[in-house]
Amino acid sequence: MSAGLISSSERAPSLVRDGVFVFLTVFVAGVLSFEFAQASSGVYAIWWPNGVLLAALLMAKKQRWPFLLAIGGAAIVLAHAPLPAWQPRILWLAVGCLDEVCLVALVMRWWADGPFTLTTVRQVVRFVILGVIVCPIISAIFAVGLGNVYPGHSWISAFVHWYLADALGIATATPVMLAAYRGSIPKLWKHAKAMQSAGLLILLTIGGCLCLFQPDMAVLGLLFPLVIVAVLRMGWIVGALGVLTLSILASGFTSAGHGPFAALSHATIGDRTIEMQLFLAALVGSAAIVATVFEERRRMLQQAKEKERSVRLLTESSPDVLLLNDLSSRMLYTTRAVTRMLGYQPVELYRKSFQIDLMHPDEIPAYADALDAVRRRNESRTLIYRMRRKDGSWMWAEGCISLYQDERSAEPIGFVNVVRDITHRKEAEDRLQSAYNELEVLAAIDALTGVANRRHFDAVLDAEWKRAMRSGSIISMLLIDVDFFKNFNDIYGHLKGDDCLRDIAATVSQCTRRSTDMVARFGGEEFAVILPETDEAGAAALAERIRQAVESHNVRHDGNTHGVVTISIGCSAMVPTRGSSWLPLIEAADKALYRGKNSGRNRVIRASHLPQVLWRTS
Ligand code: GH3
Ligand code: MG
Ligand code: MG
Repeated sequence: MSAGLISSSERAPSLVRDGVFVFLTVFVAGVLSFEFAQASSGVYAIWWPNGVLLAALLMAKKQRWPFLLAIGGAAIVLAHAPLPAWQPRILWLAVGCLDEVCLVALVMRWWADGPFTLTTVRQVVRFVILGVIVCPIISAIFAVGLGNVYPGHSWISAFVHWYLADALGIATATPVMLAAYRGSIPKLWKHAKAMQSAGLLILLTIGGCLCLFQPDMAVLGLLFPLVIVAVLRMGWIVGALGVLTLSILASGFTSAGHGPFAALSHATIGDRTIEMQLFLAALVGSAAIVATVFEERRRMLQQAKEKERSVRLLTESSPDVLLLNDLSSRMLYTTRAVTRMLGYQPVELYRKSFQIDLMHPDEIPAYADALDAVRRRNESRTLIYRMRRKDGSWMWAEGCISLYQDERSAEPIGFVNVVRDITHRKEAEDRLQSAYNELEVLAAIDALTGVANRRHFDAVLDAEWKRAMRSGSIISMLLIDVDFFKNFNDIYGHLKGDDCLRDIAATVSQCTRRSTDMVARFGGEEFAVILPETDEAGAAALAERIRQAVESHNVRHDGNTHGVVTISIGCSAMVPTRGSSWLPLIEAADKALYRGKNSGRNRVIRASHLPQVLWRTS
């Protein structure tokens, strides 16, 4: 067929092939129109050449138009060759046709919003307005105005004949020829439903022959359902082919004196032709309306299917599981990813409870709260919970829940739950957390002695101080300093000194009994003990036990007047007042320690026993 018109290749063979095709089709259309007209006193019932040529122009590049118009014009003139004598009106007819076709093609091209498929409502409406209404009217006005096209007919009658013949020619031939140029007609026979298409066309032809041959007008009504069934079952191309066939049959039989229109014995030939034209116009109109609505619905269905396919592709290719739950958390839809994540087939979970059947019981209350919040505030919530796999093992999941509402009423009808497997992430987080915890412990511990370091001491003292402030309780402090430790280092060396410090730290730690007591290395060879809810007397008693324990270890120390390693301890106690700092507590213990050093070492001194004590103790 003339697919070259579409590809518009400028190669000579394609040009010749297209030219021959256009010439033959326009010529055949012209001969048919002419022959039927000759049998009806020269009145054209349907003028098909314009419809054929219009389709050729719409499908071709504009630079080919002059060539195609010349070929079409020649075909129209030659189709009238059987006329007994040359008539100048044939030339007028050809020029008028070419003008009209050119005008319709130009405006339709300019108005077009895509390729000419005649399958959208917009395209069909434009085609009808231009090709079937406006341009044939203009053409008919010119035809009637320029000369007497139909001698013996009234002005009005000539106008109506011309207009209807022209409009019917375009309405019946253009859709079929457009389909032909697009290569859609051969495709009909390759299609799986080719037999149905052929069967319907044969049925339509036989039905057409029977109805249009017999004289009863009422029988013609049977052709309408036939055409509509053809359109609905096989689409608009089969419908258009059927309508074209029926219009040829109607013209043929009527011009040959058969059928219901010819049987109108009281009417003139002109009136019979108009009756037939109106019948065909009604047939074409019905088929066009049904075809357009049907095509539009088919296209919408196609679009909906494609959209659904892409949505499905999107959701099914996601490694996350997408669930659609009703308001009672029963699972209505689950993507296939659930099999990889939990081991269930989606169908196994249908209408099962998300909470009861999949969630860890400990997490159900938090989940129920989240659902409640999502429903009340209509905002999504993300939470982390454990889910049971089909094999009974547990996995960590992160679920984002949002409300699912009815599109029209906006009433909540369920929840959309996007679930992600975060087991690996959770494990990594746990590892990181324990590493962090270890690091935190390490950062809080003094590397040499294993007791808390100064940083941790400050933090704990701060916290305990505030706690005591809130509860109005007392807090005590011990400051411990090794006696003559410089000498120890000098005599036994630093390494032995370190051992000695470790030993003292262990001894102090062993002496403290409450879990809230905290031993820390305060700096150098000094240690501090925080004693929450302990008064000064209690603190002094503990300090004395520590002092004795260190002394009783009997670690030789030739640089100490006692001959063994000893310690001095200052102790203080305070009830923190609102907004106060813990510094005075340390200062008091430090002063007591200083007094201990000055008064012979290896002793415990209570801050309250110092002369100028300004703070309250027990
Ligand atoms: P006293 O406190 O009884 O007045 O005498 P002292 O000799 O202990 O005096 P001072 O507090 O001035 O000396 C502290 C010494 O402790 C000095 C330093 O060499 C020693 N020292 C501090 N930190 C360490 C440590 O981590 N390891 C060792 N081996 N010695 C330390
Ligand atoms: Mg010291
Ligand atoms: Mg010392």
